[in-house]
Amino acid sequence: MRILFAASEVYPFAKTGGLADVIGSLPKALQQAGHQVWIVMPRYGSVQGEAQLIGPLDVAMGDGKVEKGALYRSFLDADRKIPVYLVDHQPYFGSRKGLYAFDDDMWRFAFFCRAVVEMLRTLSLSPDVVHCHDWHTGLIPAYLKLLPAGDTSERRPGVVFTIHNLMFQGIFGRDVYGYTGLPWSAYDLHGLEFHGSFNFLKAGAVYADRINTVSPTYAIEIQTPALGHGLDGMLRHHSRKLSGIVNGIDYEVWNPEKDRYLTRQFSARDIARKLDLKHALQTETKLGIDDRVPLFSFVGRLTDQKGMDLIMPILPSLLENGQVVILGTGDPAYHKRLQEIDGPGSHLAIVLKYDETLAHKIYAGSDAFLMPSSFEPCGLGQLIALRYGTLPIVRRTGGLADTVLDADEDRASGTGFAFTDYTPAALQDAVERCRAAYSDKSRWSALVQHAMAQEFSWKSSMRHYEELYRMVVPVHAAA
Ligand code: ADP
Repeated sequence: MRILFAASEVYPFAKTGGLADVIGSLPKALQQAGHQVWIVMPRYGSVQGEAQLIGPLDVAMGDGKVEKGALYRSFLDADRKIPVYLVDHQPYFGSRKGLYAFDDDMWRFAFFCRAVVEMLRTLSLSPDVVHCHDWHTGLIPAYLKLLPAGDTSERRPGVVFTIHNLMFQGIFGRDVYGYTGLPWSAYDLHGLEFHGSFNFLKAGAVYADRINTVSPTYAIEIQTPALGHGLDGMLRHHSRKLSGIVNGIDYEVWNPEKDRYLTRQFSARDIARKLDLKHALQTETKLGIDDRVPLFSFVGRLTDQKGMDLIMPILPSLLENGQVVILGTGDPAYHKRLQEIDGPGSHLAIVLKYDETLAHKIYAGSDAFLMPSSFEPCGLGQLIALRYGTLPIVRRTGGLADTVLDADEDRASGTGFAFTDYTPAALQDAVERCRAAYSDKSRWSALVQHAMAQEFSWKSSMRHYEELYRMVVPVHAAA
């Protein structure tokens, strides 16, 4: 199949979270399985590396304005088999620091979506499937369905829309609607309108042939009022075309046997070496070498979604009989509170920035990984932690429920510690069970080895995506 990926971030070109990891790795697995894959993303000012100018890209927007853009091309892989098209528009993307959270995001990503459709025509690309990701690409399915076919490409591709996080929907005033050029007839309850506003993610979901999300459990949860973020009714309405596939991780990037960020590599056969990496991490973060207590870690956004409001109340007890390293950025209130606790002899190390190298060292050198999310579409942190033999402590929600089995409930195949209630006490209980396992060295070693034996490469998830794509290809063939 020929598959075009459209996304707002792609590792290593631009990354703020797990979305970039997925778009940086799933296409490689698909290409290796024999598919032709292209990727398209905005050309932010921060995008590094060489890119070749392909040519200008004039994009006619709805209000008669023609946006003067350009198209650049780079490649995802060293063999240059997976082109990454970069949509250039200096005022919208090139001239800014950062990716999102600007006042004019609706104009920027409306332009991006229309530019992608224009790119198909300009380059005469005719993909079988266009795979769009999250709200930034939500108008692409709408354009492909609602604009006259001759305006886009000869054959309409099948369209898959993946929701990586339903919390972020791209909800804006209707004033941008005229700019999009989409027909006003589609601006209603069943189409693009959402409580008097204009909702990009809803557009993607409504007009895609298939909606999917990044774990089977999250696919069910988003159809409930508790985790539907106001769109559960719409998703229930479209439930027949909604499913979930757990993400994989890039085994070339996340491989304890080859990890170039580590001073020493290790595998499930020689987990004693992991202790050296724990010592190195303890030294680097000034925690002090101590083998008696578990080293708990957190890598991620410092937000309530990631369970920071559960971690903070139990932090004193975590530090009493353990060490904690926290790497992340997020809510300024958490930055402040953590800085207040941090200090000499606190057994806490905090690094409040984005640091890929340190992330690798933490995944490798810590004993247990805290991920008590309030909701978690898939989560990559726990998958990486498992691969590095760092046992995840997770709340049973979304992808966490689908990927981590509790070691006490399932003695034979447990890989971590899971709890259900979203309370500090429930997290504390899971932590205590983790401590108990840690104090039994042979049990702990067995658990570490078992965690490392789990398979979360893209191999199997990619096959599920192939099946999903096959479901939409006949749609366009028949159109
Ligand atoms: P999100 O909801 O933020 O996308 P995921 O668990 O799906 O959460 O993915 C987060 C990704 O970003 C993981 O690869 C994680 O290691 C990485 N990450 C998050 N914060 C940081 C940080 N401060 N430094 C380095 N890597 C980080």
